[in-house]
Amino acid sequence: MAIFQARDVAIKFGRISAVDGVTFDIEPGTVFTIIGPNGAGKTTLFNLISRLYDTSAGTLTFEGRDITNLPAHSIAGLGIARTFQNLELFDHATVLQNLLLGRHAHTRSNLVAELLFLGSVRREELAHREKVEEVIDFLNLHKYRDSMIVNLPYGVRKVVELARALCSEPKLLLLDEPSSGLNTEETGEMAFWIHDIRDRYGITVLMVEHDMGLVNRVSDKVLALNYGRVITIGTAAQVQSHPEVITAYLGG
Ligand code: ATP
Repeated sequence: MAIFQARDVAIKFGRISAVDGVTFDIEPGTVFTIIGPNGAGKTTLFNLISRLYDTSAGTLTFEGRDITNLPAHSIAGLGIARTFQNLELFDHATVLQNLLLGRHAHTRSNLVAELLFLGSVRREELAHREKVEEVIDFLNLHKYRDSMIVNLPYGVRKVVELARALCSEPKLLLLDEPSSGLNTEETGEMAFWIHDIRDRYGITVLMVEHDMGLVNRVSDKVLALNYGRVITIGTAAQVQSHPEVITAYLGG
């Protein structure tokens, strides 16, 4: 059975149908990738799925449960975690502190979370420490654990953002353009981790991605979007050879 289902999902901004009747299923333990040219509606669909935007129509189901009207912080509690392109980390805290605080990041503003940290690290964060240590190990973040985010290069911050999402032990991980801002070597490393997240932890991954090299390396299924509509869903090779996908990318 699919772990996640979208049925006829739509959203309008004024007269623009940014997402229009999108339907797909994600099988558990797979990597599902949304691609499409600029303005296709990828970010909007991603924000609908992570419940930052409300749908105008359609339903979203996670593990058989209707989550269409649940707010973002509630779906985090169900086992859905996401990363952000603009890296929502606490810049003046260390990597370790960010990971210990990660569970609050979905629901609180930066300011509140930083104040919370300045008080005392709560008991639940301490109980969470074992998972945090495991993720630090997994993503090779040892040498940065006591570094402040503000002093780290972008590529490392991006891994910390991924680590933070993993620390919440998600069943479904939503990755917002995991390769953006990364160089070729870092993108290769990201591909390796996405593989491992699926294969070692069995976590289902849904991502939006521009870099076709990464898409080809990690995706089990690819959905191509244009003008807010699904062109086709299939393997990376099938989707990239679809005539409408080729036309969409050529700007036709
Ligand atoms: P890109 O690859 O350039 O990031 P995208 O595929 O993520 O593009 P979206 O950003 O989701 O595309 O935009 C889809 C359409 O919806 C575009 O026409 C965009 O202008 C419009 N749009 C997105 N967000 C809003 C908004 N908040 N208000 C009005 N229109 C919006």
